[in-house]
Amino acid sequence: MKDIKLAPLEDWGLETERPLLISGPCSAETEEQVMETARRLMNTSTQVYRAGIWKPRTRPGTFEGVGVEGLKWLRRVKEETSLKTATEVANAKHVFEALKYQVDILWIGARTTVNPFAVQEIADALEGVDIPVMIKNPINPDVELWCGAIERISKAGINRIAAIHRGFSSYAETKYRNAPNWQLPIDLKRRRPDLPIICDPSHITGKHELLLEVSQRAMDLNFEGLIIESHINPKEAWSDARQQITPEELYALINNLVLRDMSTKSNSFMPQLEEYRSEIDRLDDELMQVLESRMKISEKIGECKKENSVTILQSGRWDSILEKSIAAGVEKNLSAVFVKKIFSAIHQESINAQTKIMNQ
Ligand code: PEP
Ligand code: MN
Repeated sequence: MKDIKLAPLEDWGLETERPLLISGPCSAETEEQVMETARRLMNTSTQVYRAGIWKPRTRPGTFEGVGVEGLKWLRRVKEETSLKTATEVANAKHVFEALKYQVDILWIGARTTVNPFAVQEIADALEGVDIPVMIKNPINPDVELWCGAIERISKAGINRIAAIHRGFSSYAETKYRNAPNWQLPIDLKRRRPDLPIICDPSHITGKHELLLEVSQRAMDLNFEGLIIESHINPKEAWSDARQQITPEELYALINNLVLRDMSTKSNSFMPQLEEYRSEIDRLDDELMQVLESRMKISEKIGECKKENSVTILQSGRWDSILEKSIAAGVEKNLSAVFVKKIFSAIHQESINAQTKIMNQ
């Protein structure tokens, strides 16, 4: 990453006021939907119109994009509005077709960034072409793979490059569709402070109600832009219906963002803060797992008590837990009031669970 050449966002022919806003449907569906979305996005600060023409779907048999036909609609968007256009390319053919229809900006999707063969094929197709390319993080949290894709595209002679943080796939259940790992884009930024970073709250959250929270976090981390999916009728969208919002909702969301100055001139402040926050998130996850395991054991105890016709509440046992926990807590500088509150809540929850079992 050290020796790649990067052009600033100003060279993309866009206004650079933060956040650079990219929006449009997950997928181009019909000419009317594409045009109507574009017209309504003109009332927002959107500068780039995104739409998937070829859709990478996890399972076959779902909508896989309208293909080349949709590129004609994107060209109409360019002609009839002031929006620039962007679409995802996953192979050389996509690149040639997108260039033929004068798409302004290309992006490489998360499922493509993971595959160096595919990225190299795209890079070869871009040799000698001057177009901005945005590179999404790979689906697995591997910063080297992300850097590798950026380097391959750069080696093809492209210097208008941005990275998109769209979160990472994981087996564990989280409230996100693709949990963000803020440490990775921060790491990229540390390596190349001049690399613009854009956040994709749509694919991170998978649900519209979390978009504001994640967009705000990206702004607090000083990301340059946001790419957010919008649709004239989100509920009826042919892909990613749950995470899309109308252009009017997008307008409200952007107006609700608080754009703070970096609160200090120090370059290390935000990364340091983020490191602490990631650590807190990790500990909270652990805490949750411990509580889950504790509750499962409580339920087993409930079953035992039921089989043996023993009452749920055995106050001697509870008194001794409380006494022991408060002593252990105080030793660790936690106040007795705090420990008592937490353990009383945990105890109450166990009793509720056991009561449920008794009544089954
Ligand atoms: C998309 O932007 O519609 C898309 C498919 O994204 P990702 O590659 O992040 O899954
Ligand atoms: Mn999508």
